[in-house]
Amino acid sequence: MLWRSIPHYESVTIRAPCPFGQLKMILDSILSHFRESFGGEPDFVVRSPGRVNLLGEHVDYNDGWVLPVAIDRAVYLAVRQCDSPLVSLNAPDMNDGATFRLTETAQKKNVNGHPLPDWARYPAGVAHVLREAGLAVTGMDAVFASDVPVGAGLSSSAAVELAFAVAWRELGGWQKSGMELAQLCQRAENQYVGVNCGIMDQFACANGQADRALILDCRTLDWQSVPLPPGVAIVIADTTKRRELGKSEYNNRRAACEEAVRALAAVLPNVRALRDVSEADFERHADLLDPVTAKRARHVVEECERTVKAAESLRRGDVAAFGVAMNESHRTLRDLYEVSCAELDAMVSAAQSLDGCYGARLTGAGFGGCAVALADSAVADSFKRDLAKRYEAAAGLKPEIYVCKASEGAEVAGRG
Ligand code: ADP
Ligand code: MG
Repeated sequence: MLWRSIPHYESVTIRAPCPFGQLKMILDSILSHFRESFGGEPDFVVRSPGRVNLLGEHVDYNDGWVLPVAIDRAVYLAVRQCDSPLVSLNAPDMNDGATFRLTETAQKKNVNGHPLPDWARYPAGVAHVLREAGLAVTGMDAVFASDVPVGAGLSSSAAVELAFAVAWRELGGWQKSGMELAQLCQRAENQYVGVNCGIMDQFACANGQADRALILDCRTLDWQSVPLPPGVAIVIADTTKRRELGKSEYNNRRAACEEAVRALAAVLPNVRALRDVSEADFERHADLLDPVTAKRARHVVEECERTVKAAESLRRGDVAAFGVAMNESHRTLRDLYEVSCAELDAMVSAAQSLDGCYGARLTGAGFGGCAVALADSAVADSFKRDLAKRYEAAAGLKPEIYVCKASEGAEVAGRG
């Protein structure tokens, strides 16, 4: 039968009430929407995951190392090629549809001349940059839906972009690596959608590997995968506190890093970014920096070394050492980089206090959003329940908690 080749499709149980849906429910939904909207069956289904960063925070713009995983929550996209240069989209999660002409993506309008809805700018942006890059992009009928929560910091947007990039690669028959697709999708998000994100989200979504984390050098874009030991669950805990002050504080931090590089490069001529400063060199020259700039730079310098060393710990199978690095990362993000908030601190403390926790920290830009913890998967259910209880008691907010595992990157997951 049709979609049996999709991993776990048959084995998934549906739990109700189910805020973001489960795999089988999503697949059934997109297939029935497809039949309703377009008639017949799609050619194939693409699965494209969200991501979470385990370590290496606020270092991407310092040319440092990040250590994300693709998670087992994803966008599912059912696609059928059509002969006209039209892309007809149905997005049940948005209760909306849109059709645009591939030759007119620059105008960001649908076939009726109305502005494209925001959600349709992600696929249209991908089509736009692929065509700009000289790649064949065909018309399609498509339905997509997702269980990556939107706006929670798990990169639902990169998941949408990569889903379409993989679909057009499949239909166009051209070759591009995961990293090349990630770069094209980043360009779509930066230039077409107008969101100034780094490469990590698209990278992780494109190159994820089951049961492995990815370490990416943000300067060279070299990357490797490292094993996550069996029996370790990735617990993503959304504080449900949405970011405030995020943008101006983010710009301040970037400016402090640039300032630190200017001052340190005067005595360390090979320093182009904070990633070039060793902890030992930093200790020798920290007094060149004003106290606040020194705090900011110290987090980045330590976080860079910590991330590279922590990847080594995973190679050795030492998840306990990795957990300690996560705790340390939270400490310097909170005390030196000062991008935490009461809710994130409450969530991280609650996680760290529970049996079976290897380590926990804020993940993403900070000032709200999610924490991530590694926990013994044998206790994942009680961990989730107790974490929610302790967080709610401390912060007065109901969290959303997702127990995840590292998954494969965006791929054609099943065919008709
Ligand atoms: P995130 O942190 O989740 O990436 P963004 O604001 O960057 O948050 O991207 C979220 C946007 O991506 C949504 O507002 C929507 O436009 C688009 N998007 C994400 N998931 C879906 C989906 N399932 N269906 C349609 N559009 C989606
Ligand atoms: Mg996003």
